[in-house]
Amino acid sequence: MNYRHLFHAGNRADVMKHAVLALALTRLAAKDKPFRFIDTHGGIGLYDLQADAARKTLEAEGGVKALWRHRHEAPEAFAPYLSAIAGINAADDCRYYPGSPAVALSQLRAADKAIINELHPDDAHSLASWARHDKRLKITRQDAWAALVSLVPPPEKRGLVLIDPPFEKTTEWNDLVTAMEKALPRWNGGSYLIWYPIKMNSSEDQAIAALGAIPKLPESWRMEWCWQSQNEPGLSGNGLVLVNPPYPLVDSLQKILTWLHDTLGSQTGRISLNRL
Ligand code: SAM
Repeated sequence: MNYRHLFHAGNRADVMKHAVLALALTRLAAKDKPFRFIDTHGGIGLYDLQADAARKTLEAEGGVKALWRHRHEAPEAFAPYLSAIAGINAADDCRYYPGSPAVALSQLRAADKAIINELHPDDAHSLASWARHDKRLKITRQDAWAALVSLVPPPEKRGLVLIDPPFEKTTEWNDLVTAMEKALPRWNGGSYLIWYPIKMNSSEDQAIAALGAIPKLPESWRMEWCWQSQNEPGLSGNGLVLVNPPYPLVDSLQKILTWLHDTLGSQTGRISLNRL
């Protein structure tokens, strides 16, 4: 396990993923009944963008720092995400960055719960330390694919699973599809948000087709934002598969994509939103 999210926190991929996550959770919180958030690959929860790791890559510069400068022009769909960032920072600052557990925490009500799973020993330790004061948060340290299957269905029967692998192993797409094939029959009513990277020669199409072929798959969408041409080296963009997204959400996804492309993207990039 080489991947450490502290080198990448607040980059363009995090901005898209966390803006959608925050908005999806506000939709779940719009109904009275409690919900559960499950994070299969949690990271450490909260990130200091002035720490050495973040300063080494400067990935947040083109991501959350650029978004923060333009935040007053951002569409309403970004409001829950912006408020998650504002909630952990001094006024007008964005030194601290909310990872997915902290984005989720910003949306939890008194009766909602979150289970955050992280396998890396150091990151699991940091995560547990960040979460220790809030009884709504439970930290587990399992392999994500076993966790995904064993944690559903939650007792609340309402909720969302974020699946955010590092994609450092060639087996991860296969593992993800296999785990989804097992999880979906157990909890068909849940929402699932699956993040993936887009690079030169990356091979997401086949795996996403396999997800689309899962029997009785609820309504599902695929959204992608590339901030640069896929012929350039490095991470060119990212995507989310949204299985059974909370309602209403899909209309806002196009607004998020268009604004990201126009404000944080480039002319060689692209956006797309399609039903699976
Ligand atoms: N979801 C986090 C966020 O948005 O703030 C970022 C997660 S990061 C992309 C992926 C995380 O998955 C890393 O912290 C890594 O240690 C963890 N990880 C890698 N393989 C794992 C596995 N098999 N099971 C659980 N966690 C794993």
